[in-house]
Amino acid sequence: MVEADLRGRDIRDARVLEAMGAIPREAFVPAKYAGQSYDDYPLPIGMSQTISQPYIVALMTQCLALRGGEVVLEIGTGSGYQTAILAKLAAKVYTIERFGELAQSAQTVLAELGLNNIEFFIGDGSAGWPEDRRFDRIMVTAGVPQIPAPLTAQLAEGGLLVAPIGGQWTQELVVAQKHKEQLSIRNICGCRFVPLVGKYGYSEEM
Ligand code: SAM
Repeated sequence: MVEADLRGRDIRDARVLEAMGAIPREAFVPAKYAGQSYDDYPLPIGMSQTISQPYIVALMTQCLALRGGEVVLEIGTGSGYQTAILAKLAAKVYTIERFGELAQSAQTVLAELGLNNIEFFIGDGSAGWPEDRRFDRIMVTAGVPQIPAPLTAQLAEGGLLVAPIGGQWTQELVVAQKHKEQLSIRNICGCRFVPLVGKYGYSEEM
């Protein structure tokens, strides 16, 4: 997977490649899909949600340019696979998931892997972390119509945010950098994510 689907495409960050090689994706995949753990596509994890495609996990992580000392906020814990990659590459990860069932399962797997630099919260991540905090990096792992204002507010000066922005079915992956309360946006590629459901995302009745 690392050679063919990541290094063979445009994943160049050596730390990202190392983390993707070190974290066992099969630990986050439901048993009935275990044989497809290293295929480069999303898989169902329950609650109509998916574990993201390995290439997209690597690409989004690479976009955050992590060097090891950063504090990261992740919106959409899902299976916890992306959380594990972030936890390997940053100092601390705060992650929010709206489904308690997914959050609890992710928490169990991440603890079994010995990743203990992670704080979990169950709730609406579109409203940001529930305490007043600033994050060096923010990753949104579900599609949003625009960057939620509370996430812009919680991004540190000079910080980077990566998110899929667009419609309910297809989005553009963007990287935003914050300078003097303004975001400068760079488009990365087209993508397809499940929607972020919440106050600053999509409504449940879509
Ligand atoms: N990166 C994850 C992984 O590798 O397993 C996959 C994330 S999945 C594509 C998107 C996740 O965002 C789902 O688990 C979904 O329940 C969650 N989500 C959707 N809206 C949310 C919200 N408002 N707050 C927190 N999580 C949300």
